[in-house]
Amino acid sequence: MTLEVIGIGGYDEVGKNMTAVKYNDEIVILDCGFYLPSLVEFQEGGGNKKYLTPKGLQKIGAIPDDSIIEAMKEKVKAIVVSHCHLDHVGAAPYIGEKYDAPIIGTPYTMEVMRTLARDDDVKIKNKVLPIKTGKTIKVSDNIKIELIAMTHSTIDAASIAVHTPEGIVLYTNDFKFDNNPVLGKKPDLKRLEQLGNSGDVKVLIIDSLYSSKSMKTPSEKVAREMLKDVMFGADNKGHAIFITCFASHMARLSSMIEFGKKLNREIIFMGRSLSKYSKAAEKVGLVNFSKDVNVLTYSRQVKSMLKKIEKNRDKYLVVCTGGQAEPNAILTRIGDGKLPFKFMHDDHIIFSSKTIPVEPNIENRAVLEKQLASKGVRIFKDIHVSGHGSIEDMRDMIDLVKPEIIIPGHGDKKITHHIEKLTDLLGYKPGKNLIYLNNGKRLTLK
Ligand SMILES: [Zn+2]
Ligand SMILES: [Zn+2]
Repeated sequence: MTLEVIGIGGYDEVGKNMTAVKYNDEIVILDCGFYLPSLVEFQEGGGNKKYLTPKGLQKIGAIPDDSIIEAMKEKVKAIVVSHCHLDHVGAAPYIGEKYDAPIIGTPYTMEVMRTLARDDDVKIKNKVLPIKTGKTIKVSDNIKIELIAMTHSTIDAASIAVHTPEGIVLYTNDFKFDNNPVLGKKPDLKRLEQLGNSGDVKVLIIDSLYSSKSMKTPSEKVAREMLKDVMFGADNKGHAIFITCFASHMARLSSMIEFGKKLNREIIFMGRSLSKYSKAAEKVGLVNFSKDVNVLTYSRQVKSMLKKIEKNRDKYLVVCTGGQAEPNAILTRIGDGKLPFKFMHDDHIIFSSKTIPVEPNIENRAVLEKQLASKGVRIFKDIHVSGHGSIEDMRDMIDLVKPEIIIPGHGDKKITHHIEKLTDLLGYKPGKNLIYLNNGKRLTLK
């Protein structure tokens, strides 16, 4: 009877997360994500991922190289996705078809996956099984999958417990512990404690992206207060307000809507991705934004609305894409003069996000900010808290679930090794019960 954890993607880079758990002749895949820098580079070179096959995507490094399990593909019993971010779900519609197994995830995650596939003209051939957090499902003779409610920078995220006769593999990419998530469920600490007390947690794969940060990641409630402070504490009478944030951040968007209503402004969402993620959340009954928000998708709608806003700038609150200054995003196109709106002195622009620290984003954002600043607008940056836990969140997780072995996840060793300042204290020794995986590496546990 052997239990194995196999690193496929996300252990030599930040992105394309994919891990397999193998118990004898049964395998489950955990996450199946994109490596976004490769995709962005390809698309900026004029390519359209619609026309790429899984092989083509693999060649440019945009999806995980799953050849290590392809040879055993008939053993794969399920593909389980933790949450709706592209570095976890993006590749599932492309890679999934190689495996005769259902794709399992929470209702929101599955709805977003369907939407993304539809947008790319990819047909998902696997059975899609939406399962709510708190539920367990048997996927093979020996393996059960349990989804545990977890907080992150999107809703309906889950930690995944893989129950096998040799113990539990607990997968926590991505998580932070937030007891005031603003929207959605709190983390199911009780269940994690139960698992820990059972003594059955053999392996904990832990989101270690921010292991270098000696703190507890602040709650979403803090980001909400920061936003409130800017929206009510800086004089915006007579001026336009534009806000950007990550499009899948439903909690942040709900705070914006609430404050926009209090300011008596009509709330407008502009940009395809905002409409995509919000509509998916409405479809599964987690939000009801369209009651309060005018969601615009098409260029024609956006243009005519911007002309209206230009004449009555303090009657609206515009939530739009462009936090990363992506070339096709609304804010970028306004900055470039490609849309019919001109920022004026003292208009407000709130970046309720952080810049993803990769080259094109940093450069694009600097250009955009310079353009905007030259118009005399007021820029409010970093009105944001992260969705990834820091070292103190990780400490709580380890204390709760008491794993036999820890595998740092969500990055290469350069990023994740800071966990050692914690695990050393707790008695985990590198190479013994603290194990770094690589892509393509198999760890046999018994
Ligand atoms: Zn995430
Ligand atoms: Zn992630």
